[in-house]
Amino acid sequence: NNLPADKILENSRRQVTDAVYSFVTPKKTQQPEIIHVSQEMASELGITMEDTKTALFKNVFTGNEVYANTKPFAMCYGGHQFGNWAGQLGDGRAINLFEIEHQNKNWKVQLKGAGETPYSRTADGLAVLRSSIREYLCSEAMHHLGIATTRALSLSLSGDQVLRDVMYDGNPAYEKGAIISRISPSFLRFGNFEIFASRNDITNLKILTDYTIKHHFTHLGKPSKETYVQFFSEVANRTLDMIIDWQRVGFVHGVMNTDNMSILGLTIDYGPYGWLEGFDFGWTPNTTDRRNKRYRYGNQPNIGLWNLYQLANALYPLIEDAGPLEAILNQYKVDFEKKSLLMMKSKLGLFVSDEDDTNLIQELEDTLQLVETDMTIFFRNLSNFSNYKKGFKLIENAFYDLENISDDVHNRWNTWFKKYGERLAIERVSIDERKAKMDATNPKYVLRNYMAQLAIDDANNGDYTLIDELFQLLRNPFGEQPENEKWFAKRPEWARDKVGCSM
Ligand code: AMP
Ligand code: MG
Ligand code: MG
Repeated sequence: NNLPADKILENSRRQVTDAVYSFVTPKKTQQPEIIHVSQEMASELGITMEDTKTALFKNVFTGNEVYANTKPFAMCYGGHQFGNWAGQLGDGRAINLFEIEHQNKNWKVQLKGAGETPYSRTADGLAVLRSSIREYLCSEAMHHLGIATTRALSLSLSGDQVLRDVMYDGNPAYEKGAIISRISPSFLRFGNFEIFASRNDITNLKILTDYTIKHHFTHLGKPSKETYVQFFSEVANRTLDMIIDWQRVGFVHGVMNTDNMSILGLTIDYGPYGWLEGFDFGWTPNTTDRRNKRYRYGNQPNIGLWNLYQLANALYPLIEDAGPLEAILNQYKVDFEKKSLLMMKSKLGLFVSDEDDTNLIQELEDTLQLVETDMTIFFRNLSNFSNYKKGFKLIENAFYDLENISDDVHNRWNTWFKKYGERLAIERVSIDERKAKMDATNPKYVLRNYMAQLAIDDANNGDYTLIDELFQLLRNPFGEQPENEKWFAKRPEWARDKVGCSM
């Protein structure tokens, strides 16, 4: 155990079968350079700002040095991708470094883009600056939106060039290689459980499930068939809560494969994700999913359920009774209706119950989709509602093509605002209170796709100031930031359909 780490670890790609994980050594890079560190995440880990400026920090968090007495490894998992069982996948470009305990919290530290692992299949295990900036900014933004997510500690350049197909023009192009350090209480996915079930390896399935309960669902107590059922029920609840939060802010994950579903209900694997600009249930940012649109905005809750079916199948051998699992899956549908209604009501500032609320919301969703209407701007402006006659005026800057709005659309909005005004009359909170509550639910600032793109373009030219500007902006998404009003704006026309890509 006291041998230098690089003497005992192996990093070559080879066919692995029946593994649970494999020890790996991150790839040494040409010229590592830390571009950004999350001060807040560092302090949660007990790492001081001074620490982050040391050579040790730079080397460890870019994979150029293995921290003393640690043994980095890559995990094996499987997954259902786009509805089909894809077999063994695994951490193809994520390497688990170590755990950090601080203030009674346990965090796992992972590098993304630090080179091949035995699960890389035919890919290079690397990440480019573009996708790394997108994950770095978005995962922290989600955290500050109050949404369960993996976090990020640092964003670095590797100093190496990486070959990628750029999606927009199809030509191969070299891009700057990058590495982020990701932080989470656990990186376990549905796919970690599925892989064992698919191999009929019930021994490891049980060990993994018991481990997960012991460390992350401690309150469930000693493992038994009953605790496995309760565990599944909690995973289902957390998954649903996470997806309801996505719906609230217009986040579209883009690749909800079961290998990208966290067992803790955390948003994980920020690839081709995107944010709704025009409110549209049919929208997906994922260009490889434009035909079936399996992972479109409006389908995310259904996919959550579909994925839970796969997890239920994987856990079945431990429980051997489909009844309670089916009951939990049915309950998901009931809970979805309930929680979705509450979420939409909170976006509208409605707190008492009224039997016509589902209709009011349905009519709103239909009206929002008549013409391209910016979701974030619409809901943020709505908290200033006072009089239905001024309703349309209030949301004018949410329309992408205000000049060409037909009388019919205009009338539909007037009708809706009239109903909304009447409905608000039965609420008991004051106008100011309602506004405060709505503004704490409907963010003013989200990471619009073009914003990330601007930061990426600058960073590719060696200018990282916009990364920091957006990082700071998104730490306070619900607040008013008068100096940042320019980011409370519709997507510019040049950015239409420009979305990132996962690689
Ligand atoms: P994703 O679509 O990002 O969830 O990735 C699916 C699988 O491909 C996972 O096993 C990833 O670890 C692996 N993978 C994705 N990109 C790379 C890459 N550049 N190098 C190696 N493996 C990758
Ligand atoms: Mg993935
Ligand atoms: Mg990915």
